[in-house]
Formats: sequence, structure tokens, C-alpha cells
Amino acid sequence: MVSKEDIKKILDGYDKKNLSIATVCSHSSLQIFNGARKEGFRTIGIAIKERAKFYDAFPLGRPDEFIIVESYDEIFDLTDRLIEENAIIVPHGSFVEYLGASRFKELPLPTFGNRRVLEWESDREKEREWLEKHAGIKMPKKIDDPRNIDRPVLVKYYGAKGGRGFFIAKNYAEFKMGIDWNKKYSIQEYVLGTRYYLHFFYSPIKEDGYKVSKGTIEMLSIDRRDESNIDEIYKLGAQEELKKMGIFPSFVVTGNVPVVLRESLLPKAFDIAERVVESSIKLFGGMIGAFCLESIVTDELEFNVFEISSRIVAGTNPFISGSPYADLIEPGLSTGQRIAREIRMAAEQDRLDEIIS
Ligand code: AMP
Repeated sequence: MVSKEDIKKILDGYDKKNLSIATVCSHSSLQIFNGARKEGFRTIGIAIKERAKFYDAFPLGRPDEFIIVESYDEIFDLTDRLIEENAIIVPHGSFVEYLGASRFKELPLPTFGNRRVLEWESDREKEREWLEKHAGIKMPKKIDDPRNIDRPVLVKYYGAKGGRGFFIAKNYAEFKMGIDWNKKYSIQEYVLGTRYYLHFFYSPIKEDGYKVSKGTIEMLSIDRRDESNIDEIYKLGAQEELKKMGIFPSFVVTGNVPVVLRESLLPKAFDIAERVVESSIKLFGGMIGAFCLESIVTDELEFNVFEISSRIVAGTNPFISGSPYADLIEPGLSTGQRIAREIRMAAEQDRLDEIIS
């Protein structure tokens, strides 16, 4: 992993009044560029050729400058140019996925957030250790031996993009029917309930708001993912019948819809976020910036967190002009703008090294 000292050296050479924000053109980049623009930053989009054109359709989400690449790994050849432009990288889910977590950790450019989180986030075992053991959060039960499947379970493949290939089984026979033995998998209890993808922002430098031991946590929005084909498969009737025809439910994300929680659940949501943040501070110096807790609320009103994402998620995209939660902090605030605001605040207070790695 690139060292904090190396990043600090680069930052020391930056003109702090002339910072720019750079990201890969995908995922939540329209929102990131739009938010950066609102905070007065110059923006740089790193794009594969065909991608750039569609940004002309959205002038307020278009970066000021495109850098066209053949493959995303070329970012490593662009570091001098980006440093000259005082660029701060704002990573998003696709950015990390395209580069790969291990390459992303090596990227020698000032990057928003704490890259040490990847050690805990990108390995399912460590993620569970962090959330269950250190933060004390309820997660779906893990089943190690498929012969012990005694309830509905979800079989997940490691590194599966957007839930592709995941399948539901209710017993060992159904597991055998669906499993691809060539892939590494994990089995977890299928939690029956309603899904809420909670979008928070942890700032180690903002003092007012929902306080934690260092800084504050904000809730910026909540979405639910549209997943194909699971969200529509009920229209075809019993899944057992469909399986015989080779039609299995799948969990490929195709879009996002805004939701709100019943208000009495908000304190619980904040309590979970607080415990995740406090444990992150102890374990690796804090999960800084935007993060998402992917949860299911049961009919006993209990949260189960099945995944964490430690950076801006695409589920924040419905909220480019605010949300029922962000509007109670500042009308119209998006996660993209909140990130840019954090960078601006830290630059003004000469504390960039606290939010950048
Ligand atoms: P993931 O890749 O872990 O984000 O999971 C993809 C999708 O599978 C989620 O968005 C949920 O719809 C669903 N899912 C994941 N884990 C569970 C679970 N333990 N119980 C029920 N549904 C789940």
C-alpha cells in the first residue's frame, strides 16, 4: 500500500486554492462532478473513449476535462499529469472494481477516504469479523457446510459483480441443483424482511451534528436496489416450477429507488452506524467519508447488515438534489457535494491529510 508519507509529500506540493477532483467516468460520477462543481472545484473525468460522449447530455454533471484511456490501469501512467492539476481522486465502487482492490491500494495519488479500510472490506471473513465481533452488529448467519442447510439460504460467489449467479436454496438438494462447483462461494441465511441501503457520511473534522469520539456522522439518504430478476419473478408464479424450466432468481442491480425508514427506526440505524465507525477508528484509523450499510429489517424490527461499502454507492444517485434526510442538514445536499465540501473544509483548515490517504 502506498505510504501516508508519500501521499503527504504530494499534498504538500499542491496549490490548496486550486484543487481539482478526479474520478473514473462511471457509477456515481455525474453526481461527484456535479457536487464538486457546486463547491467550486475543477473536475477531471477519466474515461474509456465511448463513455465520454454521453456526458454531453448532462452539462451540469459533465467533467471540465476528460482524460481518455484505453484501460483504467493507465491511470498509473497519468499520475504526473494529475499531480500537476492538484487532483484529488474520489473513488467509487466501479473505480475500485475496475482497478482491483490491490492495485487501487498502490495508486500513488491523493485519494479521498482511508484506503486501509480495504483490508477489512474486501475479504468477506474480515468484513464479518469487523462488523460482528468488533462492532457487535447482527449479520445473516453463515452456514459452512451446505449439507447443514436447514432454512432458506443465499449462495453468494466471491467477487460476483452485482450479485450475478447468486441463488436461493432451501435444502442440500436445491443447493446441488444450483451450485457451480468451480467457483468459490459462501452460504448465508436468507433474511426475510425489507431491504434498506443506508447512506451515511463520517467526518473526522466536522464538529456539529451526531457526535462520535472524533467528529460526526450524517445520514444522507436511503435507497432500495432494483434487482433483476428477483424483483419481478413472482409474476411468473412458484419458483419451484420455474427452476424445473431452468429459470432461477438472480440479483443483478439495474437501478435504485428512494426510500425512507419509519422514523422510530432511525435511532437504531444511527446506533449501528456509530458502532461501525467507532470500531473502524480503533481497527484502522477510521472509515472516512461516505459509506453504506446494506441491511434487511425483519418484522421484529431488527436490522441485519449483510454488506458494507466504504465509499459512495450508486444508491445515492437518486439524491443529486437532496433527500428527505440531507434536506434536514442542508437543502439540496448530495453525497457528491458532501464529499467535495469535506475536501474544501479540510483544505481551508489545512487538515487534508486527515481525510486523504
Ligand atoms: P450483495 O452482493 O451481498 O450486496 O447481495 C446482493 C443482493 O442479494 C442484495 O442486494 C440483496 O437483495 C440480496 N441479499 C444479500 N444478502 C442477503 C441475505 N442474507 N438475505 C436476503 N437477501 C440478501
